[in-house]
Amino acid sequence: MKSLGNIRRAFAPWSDPSAKPFIAFKNVTKRFGHFTAVNDLSLNIYHREFFALLGASGCGKSTLLRMLAGFEQPTSGEIILDGTDLSGTPPYKRPVNMMFQSYALFPHMTVEKNIAFGLKQDGMPKDEMVERVSQMLKLVKLEQFASRKPNQLSGGQRQRVALARSLAKRPKVLLLDEPLGALDKKLREETQFELMDLQQSLGLTFVVVTHDQEEAMTMADRIAVMSHGKVVQVATPAEIYEAPNCRFVADFIGDVNIFDGKVTTASNGAVEIAVDSGFTVRTASSGAPAVGSALGFAIRPEKLRVTRAAPANASINATKGELWDIGYLGDMTVFHVRLPNGNVVKASSLNAQRTVDDPFTYDQEVWVSFDEDSGVLLRD
Ligand code: ATP
Repeated sequence: MKSLGNIRRAFAPWSDPSAKPFIAFKNVTKRFGHFTAVNDLSLNIYHREFFALLGASGCGKSTLLRMLAGFEQPTSGEIILDGTDLSGTPPYKRPVNMMFQSYALFPHMTVEKNIAFGLKQDGMPKDEMVERVSQMLKLVKLEQFASRKPNQLSGGQRQRVALARSLAKRPKVLLLDEPLGALDKKLREETQFELMDLQQSLGLTFVVVTHDQEEAMTMADRIAVMSHGKVVQVATPAEIYEAPNCRFVADFIGDVNIFDGKVTTASNGAVEIAVDSGFTVRTASSGAPAVGSALGFAIRPEKLRVTRAAPANASINATKGELWDIGYLGDMTVFHVRLPNGNVVKASSLNAQRTVDDPFTYDQEVWVSFDEDSGVLLRD
């Protein structure tokens, strides 16, 4: 069976037409004065889904999260949670909790008291509260830090206290705004897996806002890529990466080479494009674009092959170029190849062996080639 990428878990309620969404944004718009932060946006999120909102700064992702939490009211549209319209429900009555970027821990309170804070405010009986706090400490592996204050903890430990505090009230949905922003790279990667394990073991729905695409790709079941208050594509990480639905998404996620050109032939589900870089791209196409129409073709660097010898069929999906730059990154090497029209393409190859028999050097003439099914057509 062919599939786009490896699948993290067998969970795909969005492809089951009978599955009801747990959270539904219906034509939601949010205006601040004359500025539209969220623009007629509709989106479904499913029970137990780890959902990521991804987009550049200012695209409206935090506003969307804040409306779900109840800190902002939509200007128009509806937000439905578990079958109930949330309008008019104040934040503290929503089965939703939010973990903020800054963690917002109380500096004068111990870890234990920070976690107990919301429970105490809700008037939870003492015995039950002690039991719940101890469960939470265990969950985030901070039992031995219960009586420390936040300033006696590392960044990662503080992040776990904030997580424990936001989970203590057992919300149905946890909203996380840049949850790992304050952690260094290594800790961030470890914590991403911890968050995924926690979300699955608790059976909760997580909605995370991030501008870090790798983080979204690693953790999320599905990603919504946002731009200017709209969702541009909602799909699994592999679909977003391997089958972006437009130029914006192709360019926003990961590295990509985009070749623009005009259709020369289109038949039998395949299309040929004479691209501006001076060669012919042949690739699969659903529908038959008109001969002469303008199309783009996007291909990721790891799908390009760089070779000294010409490929077997050098007239299709292949071009000559000059090796312009070589970047050795340890696990892989990145090649910048300058094509005859001056465009530079990026190719990458894994360094699976420690040594290379006949290494590439700058300024060499090379061929760049790729397989027919290794890129996608861009219609806009
Ligand atoms: P970031 O990653 O920088 O947090 P974001 O995608 O989360 O960005 P939002 O915080 O949702 O963006 O903001 C979207 C837009 O709405 C921004 O242009 C912002 O300036 C504007 N905005 C947000 N809150 C308000 C407000 N209370 N009043 C006026 N404008 C606002």
